[in-house]
Amino acid sequence: MAGKSPEEEHPIKAYGYAALDQSGHLTPFKFSRRATRDIDVRFKVLFCGICHTDLHFIKNDWGFSQYPIVPGHEMVGEVTEVGKSVTKVKVGDKVGVGCLVGSCRSCDSCAEDLENYCPKQVLSYASPDFDGTVTYGGYSNEMVCDEHFIIKFPENMPLDGGAPLLCAGVTVYSPMKYYDIAKPGNHIGINGLGGLGHVAVKFAKALGAKVTVISTSDRKKDEALNHLGADAFLVSRNPEDMQAAVGTLDGILDCVSAKHALLPLIGLLKTHGKLITVGAPAEPLELVLSPLNMGRKMIGGSYIGGIAQTQEMIDLAAKHNITADIELVAMDQVNTAMERLAKGDVRYRFVIDVANTLKAP
Ligand SMILES: [Zn+2]
Ligand SMILES: [Zn+2]
Repeated sequence: MAGKSPEEEHPIKAYGYAALDQSGHLTPFKFSRRATRDIDVRFKVLFCGICHTDLHFIKNDWGFSQYPIVPGHEMVGEVTEVGKSVTKVKVGDKVGVGCLVGSCRSCDSCAEDLENYCPKQVLSYASPDFDGTVTYGGYSNEMVCDEHFIIKFPENMPLDGGAPLLCAGVTVYSPMKYYDIAKPGNHIGINGLGGLGHVAVKFAKALGAKVTVISTSDRKKDEALNHLGADAFLVSRNPEDMQAAVGTLDGILDCVSAKHALLPLIGLLKTHGKLITVGAPAEPLELVLSPLNMGRKMIGGSYIGGIAQTQEMIDLAAKHNITADIELVAMDQVNTAMERLAKGDVRYRFVIDVANTLKAP
């Protein structure tokens, strides 16, 4: 684009909240987005979920953050403009964008609709884009995105409670399908009842599995059984309960990101049982291999999901009335929400009411 200034290349004036340094404090911020290309969809952001990843990024917990960062990878909104070759959506449609806004579209992973495993994937924020700019996320008023990465929201899907599914939902749904653990006749465990775990319970039930929630205390027992629809509740710090449950589970989805013991979980698995991790503990976990060998058990991992599967997940969620349980917050309350998230003080996901509370700076 020689000869064009950044303003000409990126004529869409946008604003949002950004972290400017690793204090992580979010503050009003003006920027611009590219003009809508033939393959792009432009939409007005209505809601954006707050994911724990956002907190890690703005605080530079992983050591590679580059500022300014406009976070947000659980954004939903209403289409305001479509490029001339766009076929997926039209103006006025409700749409979402999750963690991905680009991939190479030609590698083996992309060919299998697994853009999430593409080595050249472009994340929705703080990620180098193909045009040399850095991506800005959904804590903002406007979004422009390649239609391939747009998720269509069915009419009956609430936009606020649906937003977190774009990351948390597909993170738990994808491994349930790939490892074939959540299905009628199977009994699975969900370890950890937070932002990921609470939607995992809902999807596992919708897919027909019997579900046991595994948690360190019985604090969330009533909620798990009577509100989220789990069939049983297991306190991992109660040795008698754990002993009684040995060898009863076909699979476990491990949603815990703090350091924790794997051996008791492996013990809960039946022969051929699968322990699938989606959390990302910063420290290595200890693993003794013989209990795997003794039951031909396996441990596997998973990371978000491809675009086709994200759409499948949203459509299934709409059919079964699955949403995340959320606390709606105003844009100018985002720093308080981040402080509470850091302490685990949220049931179960914060969502920013972007359209009603984000003011032009
Ligand atoms: Zn996320
Ligand atoms: Zn690729």
